[in-house]
Amino acid sequence: MKIAVIGAGVGGLTAAFDLKNKGHDVTVFEREGTPGGLAAGFKEQDWDWSLEKFYHHWFETDKSILSLIDELGLSDKVIFMRPTTVVYHEGKFYPLDSPISALLFPGFSLIDKIRFGFTTVFLKYFSGWKPLEKYTAVEWIKRYYGRNLYEVFFKPMLVGKFSEYYQDVNMAWFWARFKARSSKLGTFQGGFQAFMDQFTHILSEFGVRFSFNTSITEIQSLENGNIRLTINGESHIFDQVLATISPKILSRITPQLNEEFVNIIDAQSSIGSIVVIVSLKHQLSSEGYYWFNLPKSAGFPFLALVEHTNYISSKHFNNEHLIYCGDYLDSTHKYFSMSIEELTDLFIPSFKKINPAFSKEWVNKTWVFKTPYAQPIPHINHSQNLLPITTPLPGLFLASMSQVYPWDRGINYAVELAHRAVEEMAQPASFS
Ligand SMILES: Cc1cc2nc3c(=O)[nH]c(=O)nc-3n(C[C@H](O)[C@H](O)[C@H](O)COP(=O)(O)OP(=O)(O)OC[C@H]3O[C@@H](n4cnc5c(N)ncnc54)[C@H](O)[C@@H]3O)c2cc1C
Repeated sequence: MKIAVIGAGVGGLTAAFDLKNKGHDVTVFEREGTPGGLAAGFKEQDWDWSLEKFYHHWFETDKSILSLIDELGLSDKVIFMRPTTVVYHEGKFYPLDSPISALLFPGFSLIDKIRFGFTTVFLKYFSGWKPLEKYTAVEWIKRYYGRNLYEVFFKPMLVGKFSEYYQDVNMAWFWARFKARSSKLGTFQGGFQAFMDQFTHILSEFGVRFSFNTSITEIQSLENGNIRLTINGESHIFDQVLATISPKILSRITPQLNEEFVNIIDAQSSIGSIVVIVSLKHQLSSEGYYWFNLPKSAGFPFLALVEHTNYISSKHFNNEHLIYCGDYLDSTHKYFSMSIEELTDLFIPSFKKINPAFSKEWVNKTWVFKTPYAQPIPHINHSQNLLPITTPLPGLFLASMSQVYPWDRGINYAVELAHRAVEEMAQPASFS
């Protein structure tokens, strides 16, 4: 069959790989000039490695992406390391990313520590996600972990991910975070963009066609069961189309979708993300910490500070020290319309709270990246509202971040979903 994949993020690339493996004629359309989607990176002239626009790493439990990389023959380029994650407590930062660090953390009483251990073991090894989705994470955590653990540890984590929507998130999402995480974090030699470029190169050699800087502006179902894509005002006809774009974009460019499907799309909520990247002349965290979870109550104007070069050596970045300041926010938040100068003026002074010696003279350069679709919000009983891969239009399929539930959105689950989508496209009913 002649098949189009919309989007050259990791989901689109994986689907193209599977579809080509099944012998189809595959074209990938991507509105940007490079592959990678949300996991794409950029590279300054003097850098050996690319830097992800939004901080990214893999976990050792990310089986789907790690086996895909293996299949592509690129496993020797995957690197796992164990950087330190810290949380803020009463004016100081403490490591809190392992059972030992939880035992040593001064914000937890002995009872808290026992509760933390037992409840986490229950979630990780003995519970399933389905019975948990009827509770909000907030109510379940308060009941089983207790109020202090909630206030000190879990609430900042939830607010950090979902901003003012943190009370809406269901417990199944939270379960998934405990189930599939590791202390060691993985990256690709050269950065994630190097992986995306090598994957695209392998696919091109394999016969997949790519059309970059190509935005699909309309998807139409034809009477004969084919799908027409509109590109720069021209029609292109395919037997099947897999869209890996956000459900809201799909709804906007596909006027024939029926009301029932559009209603499910409208019921999905998500949050955006903004990241300011700062290149410094010196290391910011003298302790070498990588990830700082920051409660806004402590006076930081953003929620995560990530010193990338305390994870990946600064020697790959011309000895620059690279800091991400990240926040998850509604795309109507004022940060989305602020200029890079306004954002850096607001964000950078707080670096002094991490290192009192910091001064503005340390700053080499800054960048800002924003996306309105960064994190789907799973409400109570979200499984009843999940978008199917098969759309009501014959031959049109959807595989987006919103459909990986109960897992948290991530590269691994985009890969897993793409595999499932390609299997579903091969079902006889899918091409009748
Ligand atoms: C701040 C942040 C941090 C993250 N951290 C991690 C992490 O540490 N680890 C991890 O595994 N995951 C992380 N993720 C999630 C990860 O990036 C995504 O789950 C994954 O990249 C999704 O891949 P995808 O292919 O489904 O979608 P996308 O990457 O969004 O790809 C969709 C593609 O479609 C293209 N497109 C959209 N509309 C059109 C159109 N009309 N025509 C043509 N092309 C179009 C887009 O340009 C894009 O390239 C993070 C995400 C964010 C935002």
